[in-house]
Amino acid sequence: MNTSLTCKRCLYTESHPLGLVIDDDGICSGCRTHEEKDSLDWESRWRKLKEIVSPYRCLSGISYDCIVPVSGAQDSYFIVDLVKNKLGLNPLLVTYNKYFNTSLGIRNLANLRIKFDCDIVIQNVNPHSVKKITRTTLREFGSVYWPCLAGQTAFPVQTAVRYGVPLIIWGAHQGLEQVGMFSHEHEVEMTRRYRKDHDLLGKEADDLLSIFDTLNEDDIWQYRYPDDASLSQIGVRGIYLGNYVRWDPKAQHEAMIKQYDYQTASFVRTFDCYDYVDCFNYMGLHDLLKYYKHGYSKVTDHACREIRHGRLDRGRAQELVAHFEKNPAPHLEKFQDWLGMDQRGLQFILDQHRNPALFTQDRTGKSISRNDAFLNKALPEAITEVMGFEATSSLDYADEDRYITIGKGHP
Ligand SMILES: [Zn+2]
Repeated sequence: MNTSLTCKRCLYTESHPLGLVIDDDGICSGCRTHEEKDSLDWESRWRKLKEIVSPYRCLSGISYDCIVPVSGAQDSYFIVDLVKNKLGLNPLLVTYNKYFNTSLGIRNLANLRIKFDCDIVIQNVNPHSVKKITRTTLREFGSVYWPCLAGQTAFPVQTAVRYGVPLIIWGAHQGLEQVGMFSHEHEVEMTRRYRKDHDLLGKEADDLLSIFDTLNEDDIWQYRYPDDASLSQIGVRGIYLGNYVRWDPKAQHEAMIKQYDYQTASFVRTFDCYDYVDCFNYMGLHDLLKYYKHGYSKVTDHACREIRHGRLDRGRAQELVAHFEKNPAPHLEKFQDWLGMDQRGLQFILDQHRNPALFTQDRTGKSISRNDAFLNKALPEAITEVMGFEATSSLDYADEDRYITIGKGHP
């Protein structure tokens, strides 16, 4: 059983995969960095952001001022609203087609470009290569999401080089938000190094080639980050809005639901029904693998965030986590159909990636997590509503029998 030290305020432990430090008072670096949200002068930080983007404004009005990576979920509406309406920039939106799309995600993305009146470039890597890479990364590092993360982080940078638009604007920095890897005042920017070490589990596209003989050059070249010479020739830089705007995903999504009809639907493995509604796997198979490998899942991330924002107490957070992380991952059969594998084959691979140090077994061989002690049978049925999260769409993901691999059909 995992015995690493746990933060006294949130639920993260010292074994967080992004790296986390607990201080002498028992409070983690993520919680300490979060405190800055209530002490920084956000008005002056906003002015600073305006100064930073000012030289990138294309005065001719016939080209783009910046690149904004988007999807049918995950703060995309909030980011585009800030960039286009508050900063007055003309963004080129870019999105990587992750293939595991829900109809709600396709709808949200279509509505995004219509409501904000933006051009968009969509990267559709051929399905043959995407499946080959997914098969490899699932088997070797227990990740079905490596191609999505690699594509989402490479394609905007490739587009910046291709179009000669140097400024890329991202939302929040995950390392800062979760574990306080940096202070807001460090104003950390996008780097090749962070992408490789944390987004890509330490493996670049070319590393897949040297390890696995089933993949070849044709399969991986779309996932390459541009070389340094190309980046410096254009002057590419990527900034994070979270360093200049007090980041609060719940409040942000709620504003976007009201103002721009962003739509949401509930999940079985977390109470936050705002993030990741565009994907069948992020809160499903990907979340289960996270649980197997690291002993915690996305509901812990959501609970820690809500504790830090003062909307959830620690005891209730532990109950919520114990409740949700036990729920089975949905939509596995869609993944099996898409990749052409059977249920036994998938289960075999999943079991290989379960970290035995994080789980114990009861007398019947059933796996027990450290959170089982907090299971509370009296938790209300409608936990999402209790937490104040609102599912605006009645979409039942289970009604859809497959991924929408390429989405269209919305005006
Ligand atoms: Zn903490």
